[in-house]
Amino acid sequence: MANLRLPGPTPVPDDVVKAMSKPMIDHRGAEFAGILRRVTENLKKAFETKNDVFVLTSSGTGAMEAAVVNTLSVGEPVLAVSIGNFGDRFGKIAQTYGAKVTNLKFPEGEISDVAKIREALRKDPSITSVLVTHNETSTGITNDLEAISKVVKGEFDKLFLVDAISSLGSIRLAMDAWGIDVAASASQKGWACPPGLAMIAMSPRAWEAAKKANMPKFYFDLTEAKKSLEKGQTPWTPAVGLLYGLDHALRNMLAKGDMRATYDFHAEIAGYTRDRLRQLGLRLVAKDMKYASNTVTAAYLPDGVRDSALLNTLRDEYDIIAAEGRGVLAGKVFRIGHMGYVTKADIDDVIQALEKALPKLKQGAGAPAR
Ligand code: PMP
Repeated sequence: MANLRLPGPTPVPDDVVKAMSKPMIDHRGAEFAGILRRVTENLKKAFETKNDVFVLTSSGTGAMEAAVVNTLSVGEPVLAVSIGNFGDRFGKIAQTYGAKVTNLKFPEGEISDVAKIREALRKDPSITSVLVTHNETSTGITNDLEAISKVVKGEFDKLFLVDAISSLGSIRLAMDAWGIDVAASASQKGWACPPGLAMIAMSPRAWEAAKKANMPKFYFDLTEAKKSLEKGQTPWTPAVGLLYGLDHALRNMLAKGDMRATYDFHAEIAGYTRDRLRQLGLRLVAKDMKYASNTVTAAYLPDGVRDSALLNTLRDEYDIIAAEGRGVLAGKVFRIGHMGYVTKADIDDVIQALEKALPKLKQGAGAPAR
């Protein structure tokens, strides 16, 4: 089996694969209600929230869209904070549905500067909501959500919408303690399940906003999801097989009662990945290791080495699937995922392959084009 080192989908543990192969059941029946209720309760523990967590049949972008359309209105002024490709996407979704978006973008490799967020909110008091990415997968940077929350909630008391798609499950997010109003995630990331499910939680304040929000919505109408969850159901036919998998994965992850051991493990494996890559002479996109992501590491390509040459070599000669750069970093970086299901041996495999492949690719880079 290939060493899948993408920042999602991650490899899926065998026992989760097995759990997904159980016979189909009635999604309006008691057995399904039991599974959905257990999944919801376990997700609440992982999100560190008292709020309901809804499971949607979609990829993560569906949950970002749900966050926007359920809380905002057409023409509503919002601040979209971006430190990369996925932050840009959150702002674009809001814009697509008619919000009046002020973009606040930070350079690649940096976190959001809270002083600049404060400045933007001071400058335009009509802004009602702030959109933030917890972990920016395109650059391998984790925003300091707690510090951002102190400004967004503590100083200005705005609605705080968070894309936690590539953090939750592997990097701690404390929804209630950090005053987050909407938090979104996706199954193929920290949860080590196949793609196809998104998770989203709404605070009481977000539900207040939902009453007035007039953006169009149907499939992702969370008021419908809330009504259905009270009966142990989803409004539309759920991905039952994927839910078997998520149920099993969550029970494994929470076997010790909480997620601390999982977060510690990812912090350790991420530190190890960064150290080993730097020992190979690679420069990381993260400028400060304090904010380097524990789920994905982005490194600049050495001079003269093309991303396609490196990624193809890793795939064809070493059976390792790494990821290319996204957005402004396209063609400049490659990325190694270490979220969800990963072992130290998986990372050592990548390092050993790079040790052998990079010198050859650098030599090849000097050769005249044929
Ligand atoms: N936000 C972030 C931070 C992500 O990492 C991703 C997936 N790479 C998305 C949003 C989009 O999620 P999906 O591809 O599941 O729609």
